[in-house]
Amino acid sequence: MGTIIHLLITVYQSTTHMTTRDVCFFDTHSHLNSTQFDDDRSLVLMRMKAQGVAKFCEIGYDVPSSQRAIQLAHTTPNCWAVVGVQPNHPEAADDPTWLDQLHELAQQPRVVAIGEIGFDHYHRKAPVAVQETLFRSQIALANTLKLPIVIHTRDAHADTLRVLRDVRHAYGVVMHSFAGDMAYAEACLDLGCMLSLSGPITFRNNQQMHEVVRTLPLDRLLIETDSPYLAPHPHRGTRNEPTYVPLIAHQIANLHQLPINDVASALWHNAHVCFDLEETHDTPTHT
Ligand SMILES: [Zn+2]
Repeated sequence: MGTIIHLLITVYQSTTHMTTRDVCFFDTHSHLNSTQFDDDRSLVLMRMKAQGVAKFCEIGYDVPSSQRAIQLAHTTPNCWAVVGVQPNHPEAADDPTWLDQLHELAQQPRVVAIGEIGFDHYHRKAPVAVQETLFRSQIALANTLKLPIVIHTRDAHADTLRVLRDVRHAYGVVMHSFAGDMAYAEACLDLGCMLSLSGPITFRNNQQMHEVVRTLPLDRLLIETDSPYLAPHPHRGTRNEPTYVPLIAHQIANLHQLPINDVASALWHNAHVCFDLEETHDTPTHT
């Protein structure tokens, strides 16, 4: 009897081990170039790999940070860059050549999207009209280069939807760190957007968001950490890192009552389709 139990435990353990090893995650939005990682960036890269976080996107927010994102993507295996001017950095446009510089950067190898771009009425670092000009000119750039766009929107759902409905960007739209009610989710889905879910969906008191996530179609979801911000439960309030992105996938699996493997493989597939990448598990730099 003891032997049978022992055998069953061994079989169970080997199965779980196998499944954990085979599951891979793609953190679609991180800021690993943040100074918050200056002391241990290489350790973070090792830790995330050990947790199956095999690929990630590094996101710029102005011209220099976009350059640094490309630099990271060129020196780190399985890292891609997203370049753009975020609405909280409107001073980036003080230099009249900013859009030309961005155009140049966006054509470099390993750049997969233009972002993060959009509106931020919470911080409101520039008038709405200025934010809109930045937003629209970068969507036009993405359109020229046939690249997807990654949207930052805070307290600005109406303006964001108004512009997206007007431009109908045809090369993919990612709603970064998606948050909102059912009506907003439906509006984004109707526009063909991918919804990228982050730490707040794991917060226990975020019942309204849990209800929304339950209704979202799996084939329209991505996961991200937005490191070093928005750490998921149980790391809430601490520095976030891509290592924690599986916690977002687990929460989606819980809310959808699906096996984690099914959810993880769908999310992995979606990220590759969205950024037009080959669905291999290891790719060299400079592809
Ligand atoms: Zn971000």
